[in-house]
Amino acid sequence: MKAWVLGDPGQLTLTDTPVPRPGPAEVLVRIDACAICATDLDVISHGAPATIEGGLPFNKNFTPGHEYMGTIAALGPTVDEYTVGERVAVEIHAGCGRCERCRQGMYTSCLNYGRNYGEVNKGHRANGFTTNGGFAQYAVNHINTLVRVPEGISDEVATLIVTAGTAMYGLDVLGGLIAGQALVVTGAGPIGLLAVAVAKALGANPVILTDIRDDRLAIGKQLGADFSINASLEPVVDAVRRLNGGRGVHYVFEASGAPNAVNEAIRMVSRGGRVCLGAFAHKPALVDVEYIVTNNIYLFGIRGEGQSAVRRAASLLAQGKIDPSPVHTHTFSLAELPEALRYARDRVDGAIKVVVRP
Ligand SMILES: [Zn+2]
Ligand SMILES: [Zn+2]
Repeated sequence: MKAWVLGDPGQLTLTDTPVPRPGPAEVLVRIDACAICATDLDVISHGAPATIEGGLPFNKNFTPGHEYMGTIAALGPTVDEYTVGERVAVEIHAGCGRCERCRQGMYTSCLNYGRNYGEVNKGHRANGFTTNGGFAQYAVNHINTLVRVPEGISDEVATLIVTAGTAMYGLDVLGGLIAGQALVVTGAGPIGLLAVAVAKALGANPVILTDIRDDRLAIGKQLGADFSINASLEPVVDAVRRLNGGRGVHYVFEASGAPNAVNEAIRMVSRGGRVCLGAFAHKPALVDVEYIVTNNIYLFGIRGEGQSAVRRAASLLAQGKIDPSPVHTHTFSLAELPEALRYARDRVDGAIKVVVRP
């Protein structure tokens, strides 16, 4: 099969490699579409958060790509939960299943992250992070990571099911029962945009989206945002509070990773409010702890898509309650991956979610 393999930092080569064989509780997925995530750009140029055999993923025959979907092509021994030919989206993380966090359903926070080789093989897998990912024709997946793609959903849009699952998980962490409560989403990247859609589907009201790009804010409106604020044009905390009678909102889902995002988010919520951090900030940030303590504000960090959130997000798609299609903007062939990465990195032609198809 064809697979892109990471050499030195930033260097990808399209190679011929053997089709992997599924083991017990695994299936072989023929990849039909793989979306590019900002985290893939980090992995390809800097390595982290990918880790292969306990170190950086360079020159280890590693294939990145974690947001893929496809068709089941073969079943490993003992698998009767799925059949060949079914269309599936895949969660990124299959935890080890034996640590305390996995047993709690927090498999994206598996305590054996990356321990899947040699003497420390605990069975942990994370597609495109600790095991081979989706910039290839085939991949092996544990059945716990599979989610059936609802009928009528295109391959490209199905790659966004896992993104919607990440948004769902963040809203779970914030409190889950968000119907009738006010939420701000900061940052209109794919996760922020899908957080808007999922929050509206769950009944949050109002949902306010902030970003510094008007085209992204317009897509957020399409996905259901009640209000949008261009944070480059006005002080964003004041603008949020003005929309809310000065009181502040119940929740903020922080999806921008901007340097001052946490200090703004804690001032957008009312006293006792909750803030979920769902973006990788690239530098340590100074945070106003006194404000957090004085105002009893809760801060949560999430990693990925735990608690089977992806299955629940897929159900929202199946029910027609969310439609992520405006987030998908460009499609390339697998062979054109370097060009597709450039579109994603430089946001060429308004690119949001760029997908490659083997
Ligand atoms: Zn991602
Ligand atoms: Zn675990």
